[in-house]
Amino acid sequence: MDETLFSKTKAIINKYDFNFKKNFGQNFLIDSHVLSKIITSAEICRDDVVIEIGPGIGTLTAAAAEKAFKVIAVEIDKTLIPILRDTLSCFDNVEIINEDILKVDIQEIADRFCDKNLKIVANLPYYITTPIIMSILEKRLPVDSITVMVQKEVAYRMGAKPSTKDYGSLSLSVQYFCEPYIVANVPQNCFIPRPNVDSAVIRLTLLKSPPVEVKDINLMFSVIKSAFSQRRKTLINCIFNTGGLGLSKENIAEILREAGFDERVRGETLALSDFAAITDIIYKRLM
Ligand code: SAM
Repeated sequence: MDETLFSKTKAIINKYDFNFKKNFGQNFLIDSHVLSKIITSAEICRDDVVIEIGPGIGTLTAAAAEKAFKVIAVEIDKTLIPILRDTLSCFDNVEIINEDILKVDIQEIADRFCDKNLKIVANLPYYITTPIIMSILEKRLPVDSITVMVQKEVAYRMGAKPSTKDYGSLSLSVQYFCEPYIVANVPQNCFIPRPNVDSAVIRLTLLKSPPVEVKDINLMFSVIKSAFSQRRKTLINCIFNTGGLGLSKENIAEILREAGFDERVRGETLALSDFAAITDIIYKRLM
């Protein structure tokens, strides 16, 4: 914890008689080392337009605005807007939008600044972590990187490799679109109020092209989803029970053999390229 940032935050909260709203995931960052780690790892420069999700009282916003061409700060809580107008009044490169980020047309922002690099930076409200990240990735928005504070457990799931306890469908979905890098672990005392969980900063650098070729991406993600739907079961049983593909266990066993895997293989040991190979054989059979 950092006394200066802590007292500055307290002073602003007191000045505006601000009440934290739990349902908006309001845990404000009060550690300047973590703040500079986020900014440094996002590699913000004058060619960048930063979209900040949930600026709160503007701590991260101000640090980003010092480096970026422009910061677009999207805050859902209308009671924070006058506070942000005050704390960010010395910046002429900050645009504040009072809106739910899930309703913001990020493509429109990208089109407006098409000659700039678009970066997402945030101390995320944890209740929207997966929906907002997956929506940016699945819509293939022209974003260079996403550098965000998330729940520690979620950061480790995003970055996990096969045969580890954190590996699952989130790891594969994220790693299809980006290269994850865990920047820092962040303890609970770096925020007010303290959250109930530990946090971590993760940087997701979007890949220019997918790491694997697959004939039908949606089919691959549905195979992946069913592979992790029943953790202790073999891939054959998972696909048979939850895949909804109309394949018999014998069909699935043949597919796995053709892809070069043992029939008793479990999804948690397979890499993205393995799922792509299995999916292509399923695709051929279903055609
Ligand atoms: N950036 C500030 C900081 O680091 O101190 C605040 C981070 S706090 C964890 C999350 C912020 O996101 C809060 O200001 C909250 O009101 C805002 N928020 C919550 N849900 C949101 C949503 N759907 N769209 C935009 N902002 C949201």
